[in-house]
Amino acid sequence: MLVVLMGPPGAGKGTQAERVTKEFNLLHISTGDILRGAVKEETPLGKEAKEYMDRGALVPDEVIINIMKERLAKPDCVAGVLLDGFPRTVEQAEALENVLKDLHLNIDAVINVDVSPDELLDRLTGRRVCRSCGSTYHMKFNPPRVRNICDHCSGELYQRSDDTVDTVKERLEVYGKQTLPLIEYYQRKNLYHAVDGARPIDEVFEDIATHLKEGKG
Ligand code: ADP
Ligand code: ADP
Ligand code: ZN
Repeated sequence: MLVVLMGPPGAGKGTQAERVTKEFNLLHISTGDILRGAVKEETPLGKEAKEYMDRGALVPDEVIINIMKERLAKPDCVAGVLLDGFPRTVEQAEALENVLKDLHLNIDAVINVDVSPDELLDRLTGRRVCRSCGSTYHMKFNPPRVRNICDHCSGELYQRSDDTVDTVKERLEVYGKQTLPLIEYYQRKNLYHAVDGARPIDEVFEDIATHLKEGKG
């Protein structure tokens, strides 16, 4: 199974991906996580990507496409994959199609987690992430049991440097211009399915799970 999880920044892609991958035994591939890993390790990719990420812009298509081409060709992908945060432009979607064709794979479903811009600002500025395992929390909507400590691994929680009001606003604008056209792109291919992401985390998950089970059966 190959699932694309779409949605604006802060919609809950990462949060849902954690649950969906567990339930359906899929590999979670997040371009944001890959890029943040490269930034942390100060690789050439990380140094290039940081500049874009810090100002809320997208990393150039060519860079992301090359990363994903390599990643999707690895043998651990055969069991099934959930793509989180990729594709984010029509050009990336077209490239993905070509990569998958070469690998004899197809997209089974594209799920868009739909949330209004007002809600997204609150979600992103209150987001906290575990430094060790990457689990995502929210100070109000999904707090850890102990303040600033990860429930899963006791790691320290931190705020992403791009989750500030100004950068969030820029990211939402970039989403509207560069990523929104993908909805129509996948509608035309009959792969698109929207879920209402403005509800509690468990309810959103149930919706996604139901859709994926129907698709499989
Ligand atoms: P994305 O990966 O789409 O950017 P995240 O999964 O990181 O989004 O979620 C953004 C923030 O919103 C996090 O702090 C997360 O805990 C919180 N969140 C996710 N889903 C919900 C929801 N259904 N209701 C309220 N808050 C949510
Ligand atoms: P969110 O879901 O909260 O927007 P991500 O963790 O998915 O955040 O992405 C963080 C940043 O990484 C983006 O703002 C962008 O700079 C970069 N990025 C992630 N995925 C892509 C992609 N597919 N194409 C271009 N840039 C990307
Ligand atoms: Zn953790």
